[in-house]
Amino acid sequence: MKWVYSFGADNAEGDASLRNLLGGKGANLGEMASLGLPVPPGFTITTEVCTEFYKNDRTYPEGLKAQIDAALIQVGESVGMKFGDKSRPLLVSVRSGARASMPGMMDTVLNLGLTDETVEGLATLSGDPRFAYDSYRRFIQMYSDVVLEVDHHSFEEILETYKEEHDYFLDTEMTADDWRTIISGYKKVVEDALGKPFPQDPQEQLWGAISAVFNSWRNDRANTYRRLHHIPESWGTAVSVQAMVFGNMGATSATGVAFTRDPSTGDNYYYGEFLINAQGEDVVAGIRTPQALTKESRLKMGDEEPSMEEAMPTAFAELCAVFDKLEKHYRDMQDIEFTIQDGKLWMLQTRNGKRTAKASLKIAVDMCKEGLITEEEAINRVDPHSLDQLLHPSLDPDAERDLVLTGLPASPGAASGEVVFNSDEAERLAQEGKNVILIRVETSPEDIHGMHAAKGIVTARGGMTSHAAVVARGMGRPCVCGAGDLKIDKSEAFFTVGGRKVEKGEVVTIDGGAGKLFFGAVPTVQPELSGDFGELMGWADKVRRMRVRANAETPHDAQVARDFGAEGIGLCRTEHMFFEADRIVAVREMILAEDKKGREAALTKLLPMQRSDFEALFKVMAGLPVTIRLLDPPLHEFLPHSDDEIEEVAKSSGMDAQKLKDRAHKLHEFNPMLGHRGCRLGVSYPEISEMQARAIMEAACNVAKETGEKVTPEIMVPLVAKREELAFLKERIDCIAIEVLKENGIKLDYLVGTMIELPRAALTADAIAQDAEFFSFGTNDLTQTTFGLSRDDSASFLPDYMRQGIFERDPFVTLDPDGVGALVEIAAEKGRATRPNIKLGICGEHGGDPDSINFVEGAGLDYVSCSPYRTPIARLAAAQAKL
Ligand code: ADP
Ligand code: MG
Ligand code: MG
Repeated sequence: MKWVYSFGADNAEGDASLRNLLGGKGANLGEMASLGLPVPPGFTITTEVCTEFYKNDRTYPEGLKAQIDAALIQVGESVGMKFGDKSRPLLVSVRSGARASMPGMMDTVLNLGLTDETVEGLATLSGDPRFAYDSYRRFIQMYSDVVLEVDHHSFEEILETYKEEHDYFLDTEMTADDWRTIISGYKKVVEDALGKPFPQDPQEQLWGAISAVFNSWRNDRANTYRRLHHIPESWGTAVSVQAMVFGNMGATSATGVAFTRDPSTGDNYYYGEFLINAQGEDVVAGIRTPQALTKESRLKMGDEEPSMEEAMPTAFAELCAVFDKLEKHYRDMQDIEFTIQDGKLWMLQTRNGKRTAKASLKIAVDMCKEGLITEEEAINRVDPHSLDQLLHPSLDPDAERDLVLTGLPASPGAASGEVVFNSDEAERLAQEGKNVILIRVETSPEDIHGMHAAKGIVTARGGMTSHAAVVARGMGRPCVCGAGDLKIDKSEAFFTVGGRKVEKGEVVTIDGGAGKLFFGAVPTVQPELSGDFGELMGWADKVRRMRVRANAETPHDAQVARDFGAEGIGLCRTEHMFFEADRIVAVREMILAEDKKGREAALTKLLPMQRSDFEALFKVMAGLPVTIRLLDPPLHEFLPHSDDEIEEVAKSSGMDAQKLKDRAHKLHEFNPMLGHRGCRLGVSYPEISEMQARAIMEAACNVAKETGEKVTPEIMVPLVAKREELAFLKERIDCIAIEVLKENGIKLDYLVGTMIELPRAALTADAIAQDAEFFSFGTNDLTQTTFGLSRDDSASFLPDYMRQGIFERDPFVTLDPDGVGALVEIAAEKGRATRPNIKLGICGEHGGDPDSINFVEGAGLDYVSCSPYRTPIARLAAAQAKL
């Protein structure tokens, strides 16, 4: 078995196509090496080793050690060094890398191979003892932290105290002797903590680090991250071992991170940060404030320190050429990590960069126009979920605001919430339904759950590429980073900025796009969608097969939906129109009526109200189909609760209050979800359905006459299980419809159909289709009735199911393809067998979920219907499903 793949100058055994085997990092290192880019040589241990490791009780497969030894010798030879050698010691980094980037994993260990002996060799060889000891102290600290799991605070404390005592401000002021002293302090910490000295055998160090990576694949942080991002445990991680290059060799060396375009806005310029005389994570850790890449960005930010363009022009030019080459090669925006050792550029990582929704749109559209990608590729580049970020509010520009602090605009969006200072509390409060803003000095992968729970994140430290910034952008949370004036009190009861104090629990508003935090809840406004949005949506509309409709009852929602490109209404829930104060009395009267006569009296009051509701909807949706569902919910939802309410109904209907009370009592149900609702109401009280049918048809006629536009009502009978239920009601609806059309003297197409939301209906869809002119899959109820699972009650145990992996997805969010989906497919097929042109759609929550939309495309339905704000998401997802 081949367990190890080498990469190095101008060639590599692996490339980007081997991502599953080598992880993202390893595969791209191979790809960059093959492209002829300057990549320090190294090798990648495959994800299959990880799988074997866990299969065999955390032991390594045979042959692995020999392959690693050989690869290590080869790496040493190509740089003229040798691992463990006293005078020419090869140093390596040990880096983890799964298929998908995973912040929950082990951190990279740099400078591995340094010991008390080899550090002397490095000092002599480089002629720079300060550099050698700086590297050694970094190694001891990193290795102790991530491999030996010694608490890192002790190390930080030693360094802080030493710097204070010696009046140093920056690490770069430390001399070789200073670092020697620090190193002996560090080694003592390790020995005290572990009862044995820091490992002095480079082989032991190497295997320690490799094992730490593989073990970290199943640590708590990684498990949480995988769960949140649906990454299967079976993927495993790879490990890359790579010859070190040094950014900490003085003023001609540096380390940096960069994006080929701005990941916040998508603007096409080089975006990034770098630090002179620094190594690895220094830029991200926010210990020193990094410098800008280009002169232009520096001037824009008002920085004093020179940009890379100014400080290292030759390396900068080289870097620009690399950016160009990588973008053309990967045909996507790249996120790059690089190091400059004594003026020479080295590439350490590239990957497709994470970006905001706004940037994602702009980059896709720009790249298509630049001829780098096709329209279809551009459509596939944008994650439909991410559009959510664009469709949500930003701060009202006219609103008054009282500034708390300013930091870096790390991730756009606006949100208000209560101040909290730690992630566990953020999660707890969010579960109680509170909006929270998480305020931290900095964040680490341990904060993922808190960041997820928070509406926004603010940190005191860190730049635009810090952990907080990257993770927040990925999650679509607004984030302000590097707010240097922010001081969180040790008690975690308040923070201060300048002279002002903000207590825990106080409400603040974050504006991530501006990098600002305000006191109180600042009002927000709807976003203006950019030209890029319209353009990409246009491309998506050309491609998609399925229509997209919206679920809406009010003219306002219908208008929002239409503005977002909805092509009709897929579900108008008439009961939502019944709850308004001026109507509920009449509705109660109708329900509590003792006989048909009483009911009809109440219905007469409701008819004009319903008719005007429908007229408003038809007007907004003129020219487009509108599906209206007859009254569906269990009666008890409308029952009067208080004596006052009963009094009111008694007054309005002339019935006796006590009688009303008895009647309400009689209507009580043990299991309303499966009780007297949907078409069952219509079977018991046909006059209710008849009133609704009349209101719909009269409204349609009025609007058709008034506007001259085509009006297409689709009358939908809910909760049908047997064909006979639908037949019973359809006959009555048709009667009314014909009557109304005759009264109005016009011709108008209308359809009568049903919701498929019970397994029996799906299984007998061929029979039902004899009467139904359309099916709309009510997948919320169909999921409830297929699983026998109540949506309202499942919240208490669904998390257990997710944790245990029994459910991979919440079936109320993403359509269960095997069960519920199978019923959809059966019903679609049977329906079409009876009535080849039957119209098929889906109108549950799933209608706005991209994965469910993808399934529905496969099942060949004609349209999806979703909430108004999700319309663009559905349009894009439908296009992607088709491609
Ligand atoms: P992460 O996945 O957290 O980004 P990496 O493995 O990319 O971890 O390592 C983080 C940083 O460490 C890199 O950006 C780079 O600056 C530094 N680094 C890693 N390997 C080397 C190396 N061989 N030489 C110099 N620096 C390295
Ligand atoms: Mg990296
Ligand atoms: Mg239903």
